[in-house]
Amino acid sequence: MLGAFLNKPNEILIKDIATPEPNFGEVRVHLSKVGICGSDVHLFLGHRLLENPTIIGHEGLGFIDKIGEGVVGRHLGERVIIEPNIPCRKCHYCMSGRGNICTNKRVIGLTEAGCFAEYITIPAEFAWKIPDEISDEDAVVVEPTAVAVHALFSSKAKPGDAIAVIGLGAIGLLVSHLALSLGYQVFVSELNPSKVKMATDMGAFAIFPKGDLENQADELSKIWTENRVSAVFECAGSAQTASLATAAAPRGSEIILVGLSGNLATFTPLKIAREGIHIVPSIIYDHPFDFARTLQLIRSKVIQPHFIISNYATLNTLQAALALAATGNESKIVVNISK
Ligand SMILES: [Zn+2]
Ligand SMILES: [Zn+2]
Repeated sequence: MLGAFLNKPNEILIKDIATPEPNFGEVRVHLSKVGICGSDVHLFLGHRLLENPTIIGHEGLGFIDKIGEGVVGRHLGERVIIEPNIPCRKCHYCMSGRGNICTNKRVIGLTEAGCFAEYITIPAEFAWKIPDEISDEDAVVVEPTAVAVHALFSSKAKPGDAIAVIGLGAIGLLVSHLALSLGYQVFVSELNPSKVKMATDMGAFAIFPKGDLENQADELSKIWTENRVSAVFECAGSAQTASLATAAAPRGSEIILVGLSGNLATFTPLKIAREGIHIVPSIIYDHPFDFARTLQLIRSKVIQPHFIISNYATLNTLQAALALAATGNESKIVVNISK
């Protein structure tokens, strides 16, 4: 089969390698479409280094083409989406129901071969059957949508409440879409005008704070407080926006950290403590609940997450597509692998 290896930063190499065979409990998936994630772009740019050349990619849609021993109730040809984080189910965190922070997690496209390839093998329960009513375009973005579902429901905010979203990458857009679809009021802040338009077209209000961090925080705080924003979703993933979120969060609100910056952010303990602000972490999703919930939200037409797809590529154009994704102007590029 063909697989796209990240050979070194900024270099994708297509290699012809042995097609993997499913182990006990696994299925093999013939991949059809795979989304490019922000984390693939970070790997591509060398922000995080892989030990060996690895097939990256984890947002994989395809068809079961081989079933391993011990798998029951699955069928050849079944259309499936990959859930790419596989908790160990043995460690302290897994045993306390927190598999999303498992320290022995297997991660498709990071700790093992990923989805920018013709085939992948995976434990059967991490290949989710896609109901017939769901289009390929909605199905291929189930994984980032599950991140947004997990983030929104990590907060105490309920439909009818007002929330704020900082940063409109794929996840920020999906949090906004889900929240608007469920009847929340959504205030977005983002620098890229085309992404702001995507959110305002869905019914979000855009706020463009100006000046230095302190001025921006004052302006956001005033507007958020007037509109009773009860949860602020930091989806930009920079230390600066995390600092901004904590400085501007209204009294009594929550800050949901969805973006992942490795740099130091700042906050004022006095404000956080005296104003009763909660900082809530949100990382990936809980197996098996969030994928099940996401598929049902799409199936029942509450959300149509395919709107984030802005461009397509192929395995042969993957290197250029990753470079294009790195510009930040695309909300989601999908790689077509097979029909
Ligand atoms: Zn992803
Ligand atoms: Zn574990």
